[in-house]
Amino acid sequence: MSYQEFLKEFDKKLASYFEVQKDYICCRCWCSECCEQGDYPISQIELEYLMQGFAELSLDMKRLVQENFKHFQSGGACPFLIDKKCSVYNYRPIICRVHGLAYLCRDNIVKVPYCVNTGKNFSSVYNDGQISIEPIKENLDTAPVLKNMPYGEIRNLADWLVDL
Ligand code: SF4
Ligand code: SF4
Repeated sequence: MSYQEFLKEFDKKLASYFEVQKDYICCRCWCSECCEQGDYPISQIELEYLMQGFAELSLDMKRLVQENFKHFQSGGACPFLIDKKCSVYNYRPIICRVHGLAYLCRDNIVKVPYCVNTGKNFSSVYNDGQISIEPIKENLDTAPVLKNMPYGEIRNLADWLVDL
């Protein structure tokens, strides 16, 4: 199965997960808080796909992203974030696709988006590190999600970009 075919199936599954948790999720297109700290871990296969998205951008948009590449550093805004929107949305990595959900990850820890602490997703059902609703019972971290794909090394985006 190609990575693209895999993503088609994965996105369908994610849509059903977002539907299940929709009452606790308030992501809106004008919110880009999570992308403003966009140095996320991604695998080689995701990086290649992301760069395919970059290659398909208009010249003007490419210039803006390239300018961001120059200033990008760990902890900073993702260089693909332009005017508070993801310029490579259809090509975004797994971590961006699953972000917003509450799910069960390694060692039965429930992962919630960091914005739970800024009054956004799940904040009505989250208190003192505990969530009072059922999390999605699948580990949606990158490595387990991609376990059947030849995904290569995983590095933070800033570390990949120094080699480009
Ligand atoms: S996950 Fe949180 S920070 Fe990110 S877009 Fe949704 S509401 Fe905003
Ligand atoms: S790739 Fe897109 S969705 Fe992911 S952090 Fe960057 S701007 Fe946000």
